[in-house]
Amino acid sequence: MDFGSGLGRAVPLAVLAGKAQSACDSTRYQLSFAETNVRSADRIPFIGNFGASVNLSVNISRMKSRLVAILCSWILLSSFSFAADNPDFTVKKLAEGVYAAVSGDGSKAGSNAGFIIGNNAVLVVDTFEDVAPAKELLAEIRKVTNLPVKFVVNTHYHLDHTGGNAVFAQAGATIVAQRNLPGWLHTENLKFFGPNPKPEAKARVEALVPPDLVYTKAVDIYLGSRVVHVRYMLGHTGGDSVVEIPDANVVFGGDLVWQKHLPNLIDATTDAWIKSLDTLLQEHPTATFVSGHGDVATPQDVRDFHDYLIFLRDAVAKAQAEGKSGQQVVDAVLPQLQEKYGSWGFFKAFSTRNILQTAAELKGEKKVPVPAEQSGN
Ligand SMILES: [Zn+2]
Repeated sequence: MDFGSGLGRAVPLAVLAGKAQSACDSTRYQLSFAETNVRSADRIPFIGNFGASVNLSVNISRMKSRLVAILCSWILLSSFSFAADNPDFTVKKLAEGVYAAVSGDGSKAGSNAGFIIGNNAVLVVDTFEDVAPAKELLAEIRKVTNLPVKFVVNTHYHLDHTGGNAVFAQAGATIVAQRNLPGWLHTENLKFFGPNPKPEAKARVEALVPPDLVYTKAVDIYLGSRVVHVRYMLGHTGGDSVVEIPDANVVFGGDLVWQKHLPNLIDATTDAWIKSLDTLLQEHPTATFVSGHGDVATPQDVRDFHDYLIFLRDAVAKAQAEGKSGQQVVDAVLPQLQEKYGSWGFFKAFSTRNILQTAAELKGEKKVPVPAEQSGN
């Protein structure tokens, strides 16, 4: 368990510790690590920033194994809060029975997840990017409770949040999602592998286990006496859920909340997204938020992210009003983003795309996933 890796990353020594920790992990998970590197080209459009993993593996291959061993034992003995027993994510207890699983950028987990324990069942929020880290998440849950994992909520269809569904389906969980998700899971996820996805990518997307149960606007799930609210919110894909635990004042924002990270706007409608964030902050002014990417978030982090979307839209709109288009908009806006948000995660991967996608949105040319015809509540 870990309670403060966010602080650890702020100082150089801790950065070193983090790198050394990754080195330890990669020596223990060499096969998976190699597989990650092979796939990294495919994964770049997905959330970006996999360059670090590739470089690290090159460096590691040059390191003497003795040095790695020394570093590993140093990390295990040190007081740094990186989870020593898990390579892909860090489990953080946020409240009684409420845990976030926070992954680093470029990890095999690929996104954040979490779990909520009631008095007769467990609910998992998101299942990471792949089966292997999902199995690790199930193992982490088993360290805390033997109650059945009865539910999974997928906060949206993207592969980095649904890739491990099979693990929990096999464990007997009912997978719950907003009504739009099943129509997009096996189609829209293909776009993350480029215009001509390889057969392996197609097979991987085809194998994603779809939801068993969908809702339209809201559903309450009871884990015995503990209630979990699942609520539909617009902005990120058009099929996003937030998961609220009222008795713990915790909100899992999925990818509606990015903590000190630039977001993936590939499916976004930013005006609706800004409104959703306003609503979240209004309804949960003091909550602990679990972001989709980045660390656990404070209301101020959510406010900062909300302000990023406004800043981006305003800067792009201003450039367009001056008659700029295409690369001219990027040239005008990128330095402004760099100055204010250059230190945020995924800046390199997403800044130019954020500008171009917002420009398209403001011109009314953005393509976003279209829901199948709706019926029911
Ligand atoms: Zn994500």
